[in-house]
Amino acid sequence: AANPRHQVLTSGWIRSRLPARDQQSHKGQTGHVLVAAGSTGKSGAAVMAATAAMRAGAGLVTLAVPESINTIVESRGLETMTRPLAEARGGTLGKDSLEPIVSMLSDKSCLALGPGMGTADTTRELVCALIENSPVPVVVDADGLNNLAGCLGVLKNKRAEIILTPHPGEMARLAKTSTAEIQADRVSAARNFAKAQGVLLVLKGARTVIAHPDGRVFVNTTGNPGMASGGMGDVLTGMIAGFTAQGVAADAACHLGVYLHGAAADLLAKNRGPVGYMAGDVMDHLPETFGAID
Ligand code: AMP
Ligand code: MG
Repeated sequence: AANPRHQVLTSGWIRSRLPARDQQSHKGQTGHVLVAAGSTGKSGAAVMAATAAMRAGAGLVTLAVPESINTIVESRGLETMTRPLAEARGGTLGKDSLEPIVSMLSDKSCLALGPGMGTADTTRELVCALIENSPVPVVVDADGLNNLAGCLGVLKNKRAEIILTPHPGEMARLAKTSTAEIQADRVSAARNFAKAQGVLLVLKGARTVIAHPDGRVFVNTTGNPGMASGGMGDVLTGMIAGFTAQGVAADAACHLGVYLHGAAADLLAKNRGPVGYMAGDVMDHLPETFGAID
């Protein structure tokens, strides 16, 4: 059709957008992701997002976390660096972390913001200020989105591209409607929000919808119901940030992340079984998935 409602992501399109790597590549050229995430009781979300960025091929990853979870984060994410920050009550990052995080962004190529962060007032102030002031693209997920729902106006002042990755419940909070309304017409919900707010919107779930601010919409067909398990979204966040950091355009990074995340899970469903694989298994299968893209 001349004006299709949406396009379907194909393996050929994905293959053509994978970042090419030179024989001479070194880690200083393949991007540095900053992940700001985690709180007491949710340190795993931060580690998974950071590790997934490495699995997507990012050269370096630094994880900014509340200081009381730094030891566990360092012991579980061996390839990533950490930056422990003075924390607010309840072991969360608060607005005092704005200045150190913004200064850390000066030599980073992407910010992943939100997994396991919590929704204290001070955390919301931090998240809102980071979305407004980040000089590099920001992937906002999970509690990052729940916090952003309280300050949507900051989006009109943004300095860099903003990628939002809500599941239907988070989307309902952002759009101030119900999950049922969102699910009744996922393509329109995603397109309307992306156009109105000038963001890339990844509406997750079976057949994830990727809406661009210019009104184009893509639908993904990889993935399976075995993915309905904790941590899956944190892995997607890290992957999209990892591709963006490598210099892939933010919209293509969303396509790559969503397609390959689902394709890795499909490989697991086929080789191991339809349920019981976990988010960590999905990111661990990314190398094989890159190799199998046809
Ligand atoms: P979250 O809810 O943030 O943990 O994200 C879950 C991730 O798993 C998203 O990327 C979803 O698209 C994916 N997912 C969950 N359930 C399914 C399903 N039934 N089919 C395909 N993908 C799914
Ligand atoms: Mg999530």
